[in-house]
Amino acid sequence: MVSKSPWHRLRKRVHVLCFLLFLALPFLDVIRFDIPRQRFYFAGRELWINEFAIIFFTLMFLMFLVVVSSVFYGRVYCGYLCPQMIFSEASMALESRLRRRVMKKLSHWKPAARERLVRVLFYFVVAAASVGLAFIFISYFVEPRDLFRRLASLDIRTAGGIAGASVTALTFLDFSLVRLRFCTTVCPYGYLQGMLGDGHTLLVHYRDETHECIECKKCVRVCPMGIDIRESPFQIECVHCAECIDACDEVLGRLKKPGLIHYVWGEKGPLTAGHRQPWDAKRVIVLLVLLGYASGLFVAMGMRHSVLVQVAPVRATLYKLDPDGRVYNRFRYSLSNRSPRPAAVIFSIHELPGASLALSPNPISVQPGASVQGEFEISSPGGRRDPVSHFTIVSSTVPDQVTESIPMTFLAPEGK
Ligand code: SF4
Ligand code: SF4
Repeated sequence: MVSKSPWHRLRKRVHVLCFLLFLALPFLDVIRFDIPRQRFYFAGRELWINEFAIIFFTLMFLMFLVVVSSVFYGRVYCGYLCPQMIFSEASMALESRLRRRVMKKLSHWKPAARERLVRVLFYFVVAAASVGLAFIFISYFVEPRDLFRRLASLDIRTAGGIAGASVTALTFLDFSLVRLRFCTTVCPYGYLQGMLGDGHTLLVHYRDETHECIECKKCVRVCPMGIDIRESPFQIECVHCAECIDACDEVLGRLKKPGLIHYVWGEKGPLTAGHRQPWDAKRVIVLLVLLGYASGLFVAMGMRHSVLVQVAPVRATLYKLDPDGRVYNRFRYSLSNRSPRPAAVIFSIHELPGASLALSPNPISVQPGASVQGEFEISSPGGRRDPVSHFTIVSSTVPDQVTESIPMTFLAPEGK
């Protein structure tokens, strides 16, 4: 049997999927920005805030994904994927369902009393849902177990607790009062989309060359944004949800006529049914840029070492001489274990004949998620001809078996 509201059903299925993803992403560390620990989680990998290249490519990739989706599919993100839209529609559906139930079950009550009960029940459910939604939202920025401890102790003193209480209050106000007004007043994406779209971008369009419209206005009544799609396909309020397409198909279907509202590839372009979107140079370029960012991200992830090793010379004093003429240079190291396993780093020196490394312990252990800093000395017999000797410090990380060569200079007094 063919569904009477195919777009509505598809959209609600996508909404459920998006809600499950919204729920799962921070808990599975697919994407999460842990502010207290200064970590960025992407695709299960823990990135440190100093891994700028990867974070940059990730954010640029995600931003460009939105741009590409706008060029190709217009406001589809708004109608199908946006959390504001999903929760606003859910809140409106909840309110009308509660109203229907109360009106039906308590038909002997006065209308004003029933309406008061509807408001109380609605606010109660939205308040409870706001706590849950705020919890999930803040989990994107604070570790969920830590957040749960704060919530259980009703913490409203620390920054995390205050943020939780504020987001809960804002969520409640948003989904009980603001709802879809947010899309046309606060959200910049609708205006941005106007700049990104072109003559081939997906649109919801009313076409009635043979004057078949029966003026039933069902397309207007079902529109969650309260607009009339017949006036223009470019109204800033239109989020491409296709509720009006389903409505018109259903009304005219009863008269055995095709609907007058469609998804089309641009105002003058063909219907999407049976036609592909026309391609042009702009589409090729934006896809190539997206591919460029995806490749950069892939390469940066591939080159990433789980233990970050940094070594720098301490040049407060260029060198130190001991009485028997040996020359000492001091170096500072910093090790950051970005993996979930314990690791150890072994240092050695190369290309500096006769030199020895004074470092204990060597290997140096680093616990998961921890950083270790320290200093060591390298000494070399005196009498070097050149005051600057180039050599290499080699770090070997276990268990990853990653070896890094760090070019370094050794300073000595000339001819000593
Ligand atoms: S639902 Fe279709 S027939 Fe009815 S007013 Fe809208 S466009 Fe016209
Ligand atoms: S005009 Fe149609 S597609 Fe646009 S928001 Fe209203 S119902 Fe959705």
